[in-house]
Amino acid sequence: MGKSNLLPGYGWVFAMGDGTCNVGLGTVSPSAKSQKINYRDMFYRWLANTPPEWGFSPENQIGKLGSAALPMAFNRQPAYARGLLLVGDSGGMVSPFNGEGIPYAMESAEMAADAVSRAFFEGPGTRSAEKALAGYPARLKDEWGGYFRLGQIFVTLISHPEVMSVCTK
Ligand SMILES: Cc1cc2nc3c(=O)[nH]c(=O)nc-3n(C[C@H](O)[C@H](O)[C@H](O)COP(=O)(O)OP(=O)(O)OC[C@H]3O[C@@H](n4cnc5c(N)ncnc54)[C@H](O)[C@@H]3O)c2cc1C
Repeated sequence: MGKSNLLPGYGWVFAMGDGTCNVGLGTVSPSAKSQKINYRDMFYRWLANTPPEWGFSPENQIGKLGSAALPMAFNRQPAYARGLLLVGDSGGMVSPFNGEGIPYAMESAEMAADAVSRAFFEGPGTRSAEKALAGYPARLKDEWGGYFRLGQIFVTLISHPEVMSVCTK
C-alpha cells in the first residue's frame, strides 16, 4: 500500500491502413521478471481504460496477443565473426532510451556495407580484408557504445519506483 506501481514504458496504436490497428505496450524495467508482472493482464487492463469509441474491446480483437523482448544496447554479440556481420535488431541495436531501432538498423547497415566494400577492395580472404571487417564492430562501439551504456544506466534509474514517481511528477 502507498507504493508506486508506475512502470517505465509506453503504449502504442499503429494504424495498419486496412481499418485495423496494431495495439501494444512495452516496459523496460529490468526488474519486471523478478516482480512477476502478468503482461497479458496488464495489457487487457490498459485496453479496458481506453475510450470506448476507440473500439479496443476483446470482441474486436482479430489477431493473437504476442510478446517479445527488444534486443537493446548491443546485447547480441559479436557484431562480426567469420564473415558474418550483424545489423539492426540481430545485433541488439535498439536504444534503451526509447525503444527506437529503425535508425540504428539503417545506419548499421550502411556501416556494414562500408566494411564489406573495403574488404572487397582489399581482396577477399586477405589479412587487410579481415582488418576492414573487424573495423565494423569497433566503429559501432565508437558511434553508439557510450550512448547505449548511458541508456542502460537510465533504464536502471527509472526502474526504481521512487525515481519514476519523481520523474513523472
Ligand atoms: C511494436 C514495436 C514498435 C516499434 N516502434 C519503433 C519506433 O517507433 N521507432 C523505431 O525506431 N523503432 C521501433 N521499433 C523497433 C524497430 O521496429 C526495429 O528495431 C527495426 O525494425 C529493426 O530493423 P531490422 O532491419 O534490424 O529488423 P526487422 O525490421 O525485424 O527486419 C528483419 C526482416 O528479416 C525478415 N526475416 C526474418 N527471418 C528471415 C529469414 N530466415 N529469411 C528471410 N527473411 C527473414 C523478417 O521478416 C523481417 O522483414 C519497434 C518495434 C516493435 C516490435
